[in-house]
Amino acid sequence: MNFPTAYTDIIDRINKTDPGKYAAGRNYIDGTVSYLSPYISRGVISTKQVLDSLLAKGYNLDQMEKFIQELAWREYFQRVWQQLGDDMFDDIRRSNTGTRHRYLPAALQEAKTGIHAIDKGINELYETGYMHNHLRMYTASIACNIGKAYWEMPSKWMYYHLLDGDIASNTCSWQWVAGSFSSKQYFCNQENINKYTRSHQVYSFLDKPYHELPLMPVPDELKLTTPVQFITELPENSTPFIDTSLPILLYNSYNLDPLWRNDSKVNRILLLEPSHFKQFPVSGKVIDFILSLAKNIEGIQVFTGEISDIPFINKVPAILSKEHPAFMHYPGQKEARDWMFPEVTGFYNSFFGFWKKCERILKNIQHQKPELMRA
Ligand SMILES: Cc1cc2nc3c(=O)[nH]c(=O)nc-3n(C[C@H](O)[C@H](O)[C@H](O)COP(=O)(O)OP(=O)(O)OC[C@H]3O[C@@H](n4cnc5c(N)ncnc54)[C@H](O)[C@@H]3O)c2cc1C
Repeated sequence: MNFPTAYTDIIDRINKTDPGKYAAGRNYIDGTVSYLSPYISRGVISTKQVLDSLLAKGYNLDQMEKFIQELAWREYFQRVWQQLGDDMFDDIRRSNTGTRHRYLPAALQEAKTGIHAIDKGINELYETGYMHNHLRMYTASIACNIGKAYWEMPSKWMYYHLLDGDIASNTCSWQWVAGSFSSKQYFCNQENINKYTRSHQVYSFLDKPYHELPLMPVPDELKLTTPVQFITELPENSTPFIDTSLPILLYNSYNLDPLWRNDSKVNRILLLEPSHFKQFPVSGKVIDFILSLAKNIEGIQVFTGEISDIPFINKVPAILSKEHPAFMHYPGQKEARDWMFPEVTGFYNSFFGFWKKCERILKNIQHQKPELMRA
């Protein structure tokens, strides 16, 4: 898969999304998935924009429900972060007990777990910045539930490489697999991996019935850990030109929306704060992707530095950004993001409580605007 960065190609990708085919194939490595996550994560497009596009095409609720439900996971995790703040970085529902260490299993870093489909998936992650959802679940399960690593360091490793890295989705999904944000740990055996990755491996450490997996000792392949330091290489700093008679619009790695106030006369700054990337490091590939996406925004200037270092920041008539838990420290006005379900806020202990409310809203849309949906 590839991830073009021109806005027209991204819109084209939304238009080609077929939610009907999605439900049956999404769990298979070669199934029809949308590959939209890097653009949604980076705030180039919104979940609402995707929903509106499907509604405009006239899909009915039955045809698109599974796909919308997946999009809703993103909103759910963002709401979790909004509500929990930094507590999201601790075990959310239950302690992640039974772990043996807080490091990264070397086998993940080196793509040598011995499970061929996983190792191939990790190598592809390094090459492309993407990994299929099922492979992410398998990888997390092997690291945490078989290798007994605490979820935090492996989640940082994965986040570092993902073009679609989303701090909330990543942290919460790892905790979901590890069992600290769900009712039980997620396990996968070789048979399941073979089925969904179209592989045929036998005699691996996962080639066992399910009931044996939670009790098995850590396999040799996963015993070695590796000290890792994730470092973000940010572009060289150059001083932006600020017209002090105009407001500043702040963009960042989670807001790269080319349509945001695109007819206003403003200073547009893509702010890459070293403090943010120290806390949430990303690879050079991810930074290149962000810079490339920013090219869709006319007149944008890239600034590597902290918010307070932006020249004349105190002299401009207004500072605007989009609300996001990672950037609460920005001064000025924070505009709401475009949510599919703006009314469904607050913390839900599980996704399905959250989804029930969303589903009701979707049904209302179908009821109120039947002309938008195909019979
Ligand atoms: C351990 C683990 C870590 C993950 N880390 C991230 C991450 O850092 N960033 C990220 O965007 N997704 C993450 N996911 C969720 C999911 O794997 C990706 O969103 C999905 O694979 C993206 O591919 P796609 O766009 O083709 O998805 P599709 O299957 O086409 O899904 C459609 C859209 O639904 C949304 N979506 C689907 N599943 C999820 C989910 N679980 N959480 C949030 N949104 C979802 C995405 O926006 C996606 O674009 C993670 C999942 C796991 C199990």
